Amino acid sequence: MELRLENLTKIFTNKTGTDTTAVDNLDITIESGTLVGLLGPSGCGKSTTLFMIAGLVKPTSGKIYFGDDDVTRLAAEKRGIGLVFQNYALYPHMTVYKNILFPLENMDVARDEAIQRVKDMANLVGIGELLDRKPAQLSGGQQQRVAIARALVKRPRVLLLDEPLSNLDARLRLQMREEIKRIQRETGITTIFVTHDQEEAMSISDKMVVLDFGVQQQYAGPQQMYNNPGNLFVAKFLGNPPINTFEAKIDKKHLIINEQKLMKVDLPDGTYDIGMRPENFRAASSDSKIKIEVDIKEIFHIGRDTMIHFEFNNQNMRALVDSEAVTDKSKKIDLTIKKERVYIFDKKTGKVIDHA
Ligand code: ATP
Repeated sequence: MELRLENLTKIFTNKTGTDTTAVDNLDITIESGTLVGLLGPSGCGKSTTLFMIAGLVKPTSGKIYFGDDDVTRLAAEKRGIGLVFQNYALYPHMTVYKNILFPLENMDVARDEAIQRVKDMANLVGIGELLDRKPAQLSGGQQQRVAIARALVKRPRVLLLDEPLSNLDARLRLQMREEIKRIQRETGITTIFVTHDQEEAMSISDKMVVLDFGVQQQYAGPQQMYNNPGNLFVAKFLGNPPINTFEAKIDKKHLIINEQKLMKVDLPDGTYDIGMRPENFRAASSDSKIKIEVDIKEIFHIGRDTMIHFEFNNQNMRALVDSEAVTDKSKKIDLTIKKERVYIFDKKTGKVIDHA
């Protein structure tokens, strides 16, 4: 089912009358069956967006559509949503079986069918053998699986996951990411996954929405967004190690860096923000069009690649290059980068400018 947010806005007013715009005119159409990662720094409005979709927070303005149904004013329990929280929120005194069955008890589902659905969901999430246990007898990952089964047993129209993996240790997180992706594929339910972890969002999402101060920055597939960031915020938010950024001038159709012409660009003269991802550098060859000579300050070997630190245009920068291109004694290296991987951003709006 398609999920559409139309100019969705939430303004919180505190006791002293100060307004906080938590979500600002969000306008997104999420295609049916998509797993969307909702990503952004702390306080950017992720949970508020999720809770508005769930019906737990009332929007100040705007609309929410599930398919053709306008659910903006519909009560949470009538929306057909499955919610999974970071802290699982299982009933401690109930067995796994009862926990999963619970949402069906208030629904008009025949007993036999309910039992079958609980078993099917438990098997789907990989806890079919644990139905008789209590939550305290389960690991964190198993508890989160129970929470997902409980959310799915109602056959929701939308599955909403709020930082569901934050309480798990690093190894389990990786495993559960894959599990959530598999479960989502098998059920085909339109899913929103809230996280502040860009790597988690990149690995799990079909598409991502990046928010900053409640404002949508970009909506695109992870690789698309990584390789074609729409603005400086997205470019900086995605990537580890982060993108190198600095200011540079364009003078008479040339991008000038370290007082040298780096490349030709068909843009007006002025100052721009420039971004270059560390892994987009290569060691230059004799026929490289773009050549950057750098003094190496530090060298770190990371498996097959080597990270070098250097100063460039008065900024500390990093490049990830093939280990064969440098030795521990290297002092200088000529780097190159493809023209389309030099990102140029408008200084005022932060928006990327297509120049390649
Ligand atoms: P985090 O990653 O830290 O959970 P988030 O992206 O989920 O953050 P929200 O919880 O949606 O962000 O909050 C967005 C903004 O709205 C923040 O500035 C927050 O302080 C504010 N806010 C959230 N809930 C309320 C509330 N009930 N009353 C007033 N302000 C609120």
